[in-house]
Amino acid sequence: MSYKAPRGNQRTAPGWIQEAAKRMLLNNLDPEVAEKPEELIVYGGRGKAARSHADLQRILAVLERLQNDETLLVQSGRAVGVFKTQPLAPRVILANSNLVPNWATWEEFDRLDRLGLMMYGQMTAGSWIYIGTQGILQGTYETFAAAARKHFGGSLKGTITVTGGLGGMGGAQPLAVTLNGGVAICVEIDPERIQRRLDTAYLDVRADSLDEALRLAEEAKRKGQPLSIGLLGNAAEVLPEMVRRGFTPELVTDQTSAHDPLYGYIPVLKADEDPALLRQRDPEGYKKRVLSDMAAHCRAMVEMQKNGAVAFDYGNNLRAFAKLGGFEEAFSYPGFVPAFIRDQFCEGRGPFRWVALSGKPEDIYKTDQAILKLFPEDAGLSRWLTEGVKKFKFQGLPARICWLGYKERDKAGLLFNEMVRKGELEAPIVIGRDHLDAGSVASPYRETEAMLDTSDAVADWPILNFALNAVSGAAWVSFHHGGGVGMGYSLHAGQVTVADGSEEAAFRLERVLTNDPGTGVMRHAHAGYEQAKQVARERGLDLAGWEQ
Ligand code: NAD
Repeated sequence: MSYKAPRGNQRTAPGWIQEAAKRMLLNNLDPEVAEKPEELIVYGGRGKAARSHADLQRILAVLERLQNDETLLVQSGRAVGVFKTQPLAPRVILANSNLVPNWATWEEFDRLDRLGLMMYGQMTAGSWIYIGTQGILQGTYETFAAAARKHFGGSLKGTITVTGGLGGMGGAQPLAVTLNGGVAICVEIDPERIQRRLDTAYLDVRADSLDEALRLAEEAKRKGQPLSIGLLGNAAEVLPEMVRRGFTPELVTDQTSAHDPLYGYIPVLKADEDPALLRQRDPEGYKKRVLSDMAAHCRAMVEMQKNGAVAFDYGNNLRAFAKLGGFEEAFSYPGFVPAFIRDQFCEGRGPFRWVALSGKPEDIYKTDQAILKLFPEDAGLSRWLTEGVKKFKFQGLPARICWLGYKERDKAGLLFNEMVRKGELEAPIVIGRDHLDAGSVASPYRETEAMLDTSDAVADWPILNFALNAVSGAAWVSFHHGGGVGMGYSLHAGQVTVADGSEEAAFRLERVLTNDPGTGVMRHAHAGYEQAKQVARERGLDLAGWEQ
């Protein structure tokens, strides 16, 4: 069975929000978008959009009949109830993979998953706003650009980056590095993933041996030319081998699916070993091997750091599992948020995305032009929307992402709504964001790592964000556990709005798209960041009498 979202400006559900939810759920599972649609897996290891195929069909059937004063509740990918609420309430409320803290482990999750009682929602998989690899491309581009500014005079020209993983998220790395002028060696164990990134022009070439990869990389570095190389191999083997040979890249990071030691990260295997069989026969023994290989992988990154490379964790929790695998120095290098992104979070900035329900690329191109006019002074944004977006193809429904902050997103949302109202766009626009976000996440090894006031693990903030977005009029809201870094390590919330050109949509958009990034500024101001306090003062965010 192959899924694809309907296109065009005719809806079959009772309202555009229900129609949008239906299309976005199906779009998450479009084979152009999802990593393994046949298993309902969208990205991020086993991040799913619905618990089972039967559950998917039931959700779609409910959305087709859901009235404009009703709300559907979805528990870990299963429709569990429809309640009479009120017209401005969210039409769907989702909760994904949440466990009581003392039980918040992969073991307990896996037990419940096997019983059919839960689903891993990752971040935008279970909240129905994944848009393919573009979704992460701009964030990855921004992160490497920030690394270039901080360490290499503003460009990655003449540098080599070594990383792992070319999956749904990790597949953006090669293009993000080359867009910043650098050379990337991306170690990936699965030849199909390498091929997929070559097919979509995210990756330039494939190398089957370390010798070949190093030769290509050194040559491009010498010439100052951008080049991305997909190297077939296991990162736990390749990186230690690089260290043994005395090779040190300028930058080293990783985006293998290390958040999930049982089903994500692949250990070093002998030719006749099948990971699925090993997992089934001896899950504990398999996990031990994985942890020990993660330790070897992370140790090589720390060695490279000692030899002069800039090392950073890219949000997959490799450090924590490497430590469990016996490598005590795993936390020697920082996460990407404290290293490069926190300043942006202080302004409520982060990935803001939108999708054209018409299915027409022209609708997205028109919104690109509108955004360029709305924020003419933002040079990075204009480079992205003019040069960056030429480098890749749309996957599924045409979509766009860019980073906007507090008192910017509401302007963009209202403008899109006007464009729909005036008929400039063919159909409504869906607006959402990643959970890589300033105000909606508690994730001590990622978004909230090394907070100024040590409040890294305080999870009241994403709960406040979730509830505020619901009462502000989001189209759908979700609350998740374990996204990005795995079970026990994060709690986070999502929100989506729909610009259908109506006055009701404008009312919802203005509130949600102001309040949602506002919670990011609030969270950082309360943690003591001067920059966030200043943003609150200058842009009129009421911090309830707290010193601003
Ligand atoms: P994915 O499962 O789609 O891809 C992971 C890739 O790693 C796969 O292609 C797999 O073959 C490869 N791999 C696994 N073990 C390997 C090994 N030992 N050596 C080489 N390759 C190996 O996952 P994804 O969506 O690309 O996400 C990658 C990681 O990033 C996940 O842990 C995810 O939770 C995390 N993540 C990061 C961000 C961020 O903003 N930085 C956001 C969401 C998720």
